[in-house]
Amino acid sequence: MIAFKQVSKWYGAYQALANIDAQVARGEVVVVCGPSGSGKSTLIRTVNRLESIQDGTIEFDGKDVNAPGIDINRFRSQVGFVFQSFNLFPHLSVAENIALAPTTVLRKSKREARERAVALLDRVGLAAKVDAYPGQLSGGQQQRVAIARALAMDPPAMLFDEPTSALDPEMVGEVLQVMKQLAREGMTMMCVTHEMGFAREVADRVWFMDHGAIVETGSPDAFFSTPQSARAQKFLSDLR
Ligand code: ATP
Ligand code: MG
Repeated sequence: MIAFKQVSKWYGAYQALANIDAQVARGEVVVVCGPSGSGKSTLIRTVNRLESIQDGTIEFDGKDVNAPGIDINRFRSQVGFVFQSFNLFPHLSVAENIALAPTTVLRKSKREARERAVALLDRVGLAAKVDAYPGQLSGGQQQRVAIARALAMDPPAMLFDEPTSALDPEMVGEVLQVMKQLAREGMTMMCVTHEMGFAREVADRVWFMDHGAIVETGSPDAFFSTPQSARAQKFLSDLR
C-alpha cells in the first residue's frame, strides 16, 4: 500500500533520509518511532510530497507519488494526513470543514457531503458538534474533526505525524481511541507517535529510525522486550 524503495533525501548537504526500503502492507498498522531529528516527519511527509526526495521511489496505493504529470493537489487531498496541528478552517463549521474537499475535489453534492460529514462525526464521537465552529471545540475534539475530514476523502491509507503531541494530556486518550477504532476496522496506517502504549496495543510492526535510516523493525512485542540495536535499547531506556 505504501512502499519506499531506496529512498534518500537531503536538505542541502544534510542527508535526512538514507536508503529507506520499507513497505506498509494493506491493512497494516506501522508505528514509526525514534529520537528527535531521526527523520520520522521527513519520511512520512514524503508520501504526500510535502517533502521532495532526491533518490528512490515512493508508491502510494500502487502509484508512484513523484510521477510526472500527477495532479498534486488532488493527490494530496486523497492521502489521509493528520498532523500535530489540526489546521481546521476557523470560519467554517465542523461539517463544512469535513465537506469541503468532497464537494470541491470529488464534486459531491452539498447534501451528500454533509450527510457523510454527519456520519463521520458520529464515528469519531462528535455527532453533537456538527454545526459548531473549530474555536468552540477542545484540542482533542478538533483533532477528531481533522481525522473525520481526512476520512471524508476515503483515503486508502492514513498517515499520522504525532497527532496527540500538541494535546493536553487528558485529551490524548480520546484521539487514540479513534485511531484504535480505525485500526480495528482494517485501515492501513503509518503513525509517527511517542505513544508507546498505542504502539504495543495496535501496531503490527514498529519501525525504529535513527539518523535518517530505519535501523530496526519488528513486532511491538519483540521491539519493546528485546530491542536488537544499541540505539533502540538506549531510546527505550530513555523513555522509561
Ligand atoms: P521530531 O521527533 O523532533 O519531530 P523527526 O524524527 O520528525 O524529529 P525530522 O523533522 O524528520 O525529524 O528531521 C530530520 C532531520 O532533518 C533533522 O536533523 C532536522 O533538523 C532536519 N530538517 C528537517 N526539516 C528541515 C528543513 N526544512 N531544512 C533543513 N533541515 C531540516
Ligand atoms: Mg517530527
